[in-house]
Amino acid sequence: MKKYGTHRAVLSVICLSLLTACVSHDSKYEEAYAWKLRLFQRLQDNLSKPVAERVQKMPDNLLKAVRDHEKSIGITGAVRYAARTPTADDMALFKSYLDLLPQAHKAVFEKKLLAVYLIDGFSGAGLANWVVDQKGQTYYYIILNSSLFRVSLDDWLSYKNDSQFDKSEQASPTIRVRTQTDYNALIYGLLHEGAHIVDIEFGATPYFDHHHRRLIGIIQKASEFTDRVWINWLRPVPQSDFVHRTELNPYGSFPRKGLIPRGELPEMFAQLMKTPFVSFYSGSSWNEDLADYVSFFHIEKKLGGRFYS
Ligand SMILES: [Zn+2]
Repeated sequence: MKKYGTHRAVLSVICLSLLTACVSHDSKYEEAYAWKLRLFQRLQDNLSKPVAERVQKMPDNLLKAVRDHEKSIGITGAVRYAARTPTADDMALFKSYLDLLPQAHKAVFEKKLLAVYLIDGFSGAGLANWVVDQKGQTYYYIILNSSLFRVSLDDWLSYKNDSQFDKSEQASPTIRVRTQTDYNALIYGLLHEGAHIVDIEFGATPYFDHHHRRLIGIIQKASEFTDRVWINWLRPVPQSDFVHRTELNPYGSFPRKGLIPRGELPEMFAQLMKTPFVSFYSGSSWNEDLADYVSFFHIEKKLGGRFYS
């Protein structure tokens, strides 16, 4: 917190010359920080429970907050989000997949994961978000799309990749991902969202989002993982860039963004193969790069999978 205090002092000096802009930026941060603190206080008792018992039905006001935020950033399908009460089958699958995760995921889940919520109709596979306690320590909650429990890993990854291309040229290529495993997509949701949490916890990438950067009070430009691949949070070095990278729209979650012409797929794929990224989505940000890298690595090296596209 001392670091954070110093950072705030520096910011207030800068704000003297940029008063209007800073006041609104500052109040947004304070509002988000207070919200995160209240959520931590509400959920902290969950930490005394086994991780599997932290899979719970999302409270109405948190569902509304998530829905409102997603709508505000253009995910129009968020109006259909519904909190799911996990069934006995959901819980059995969740528990069995928890055992398959990397040690780092398990350790951080045990100490810091406050809750896991299942949402029907969620726009993507899931979401990992952080909250804070009174000392500025980060804790987390995860949202998982309920469909992850019922769809195969291969079908999910195929859909995630293929859904961002339009259907105007039916004869053009489609993406089909095969992992040579029988897992459900839940394994990807837990690996990917869990990797975001491990990332925040250990700083594998310099920071997770702008509010997180401000919380940790550092302006680090690179880490061992991002060095020579990323210029900043959202921009890779030219050698790691690929055409239409900034137009990626998996699941078509952002209708206003539109879809990429399918005829562009072969060239995009050829360019992707020259980058260090394991997927198109890895090119979204350094956080997504890390989360997909960890997920694909674990599926291949530890769960016996092999990726073919
Ligand atoms: Zn992600």
